[in-house]
Amino acid sequence: MGNEAPVRLYIFDADGTLRRTTVEGLPCPNRPGEWELIPGVRERLGRIDWGEARFGVASNQGGVGVGYLSLAAARRLLEDMVVEAFGVRDPPPGSIELCPHAPHLGCPCRKPQPLMLKRLMRRFDAEPDETLFVGDMDKDEGAARAAGTRFMWAHEFFGRRE
Ligand SMILES: [Mg+2]
Ligand SMILES: [Zn+2]
Repeated sequence: MGNEAPVRLYIFDADGTLRRTTVEGLPCPNRPGEWELIPGVRERLGRIDWGEARFGVASNQGGVGVGYLSLAAARRLLEDMVVEAFGVRDPPPGSIELCPHAPHLGCPCRKPQPLMLKRLMRRFDAEPDETLFVGDMDKDEGAARAAGTRFMWAHEFFGRRE
């Protein structure tokens, strides 16, 4: 990362970045038992010095808005993911941002809108150039651009084949 500022806040997308479903054809889990961490995630996250940095998650959960799962269920699934991925007992307060709105409502939080990233930066007192967002879709890259943060594709960050 050369001369860039050290990363003080890592923000991760969830689906396709930290977790994947175990059900053929299902893009996002709707209940426990339908997901797993993507191999290598926990190991890669374990190599980050969390003494110097914080983390957050920013996830579009349009399934809530269209009725596939409740907001509470979506949040709980993301909490379980954070516990497994980061090896914490509980997700740090305020570390999970999710957009529960249906995709075509035009809400201000659904990526590529930057609101979830901005909330996390404000909450954890990080400037955009100290913030790295890691995601797997164009709307993730768009949200990073709109929020002014740095961005890495998940396959690069985690050293996966594309
Ligand atoms: Mg994704
Ligand atoms: Zn939203």
